[in-house]
Amino acid sequence: ATMPPLLSAIANAGRHGVLVKSALAMERLGEIDATALDKTGTLTEGAPEVTAVRPLPDSGLDENELLALAAAAEHPSEHPLARAIVTAARARNLRIAPAEDFTAASGRGVTATVAGRVVGVGRAEDADGDATVVRVTLDGTPVGTLALTDRLRADAPATTAALTALTGTAPVLLTGDNARAAARVADATGLTDVRAQLLPEDKVKAVRGLQDAGRKVLFVGDGVNDAPALAAAHSGIAMGRAGSDLALETADAVVVRDELTTVPAVVRLSRAARRLVL
Ligand code: ADP
Ligand code: MG
Repeated sequence: ATMPPLLSAIANAGRHGVLVKSALAMERLGEIDATALDKTGTLTEGAPEVTAVRPLPDSGLDENELLALAAAAEHPSEHPLARAIVTAARARNLRIAPAEDFTAASGRGVTATVAGRVVGVGRAEDADGDATVVRVTLDGTPVGTLALTDRLRADAPATTAALTALTGTAPVLLTGDNARAAARVADATGLTDVRAQLLPEDKVKAVRGLQDAGRKVLFVGDGVNDAPALAAAHSGIAMGRAGSDLALETADAVVVRDELTTVPAVVRLSRAARRLVL
């Protein structure tokens, strides 16, 4: 038998490095007419680096003590920011103390008990150039901040241009990060509709807002914080390499080869297959 067009398209997508989970998922990819993109790990590489460690003057901590505390609390986390903080502490040969009672709040940060004290690492509204800034707290009191930056993916500008051409409308950027870090990535990719400091439920609201206005939205993301938006969108694609399990499980398709240009490529494959089906 000849392979039905949507199944051929799934096989083709596989050759491009995208795992599409079903014929229905393949079909829906070709129906989208708007896109919304996560920033960290999606338009950026998702491998940030710590660029500054700043203890507050009255915290009594030096740079290494602050970084070691943050690394201890972040050690159990799989978030890209957490991995960057642990890597930075190891690079300085700091001892990472064991943590207890670890909790992570999606899109916000982590807390853990380290040597009997509660350490928090998470969202800070502070701006520091266009870096991502996280605040470290000790028993609820701010003790300093860390700045982190992440490189733009080399194929991000080509991808946003291709998605704009495919849908007739530029992608919307949805991020939990601060407005200046978001603006840096938006400027580099030619995007103008940028929504920053969003919690996971705010990403869902943004996707629903577009869909209530009659659009069929493709959402592309990688984090635990992206899972609700991946589920709410007409079609959801997760970035596989550094993506969280929850994002990969929720999405309709997973980018296995770590290239963003595969996203417009699968939309084109779906459209071509649908022309043969209809
Ligand atoms: P994005 O939407 O850009 O992918 P996230 O929603 O994952 O970003 O994170 C949004 C913000 O929440 C981060 O910029 C950071 O301030 C904070 N955050 C999330 N997880 C962590 C963590 N493990 N450690 C510190 N901060 C975190
Ligand atoms: Mg992300």
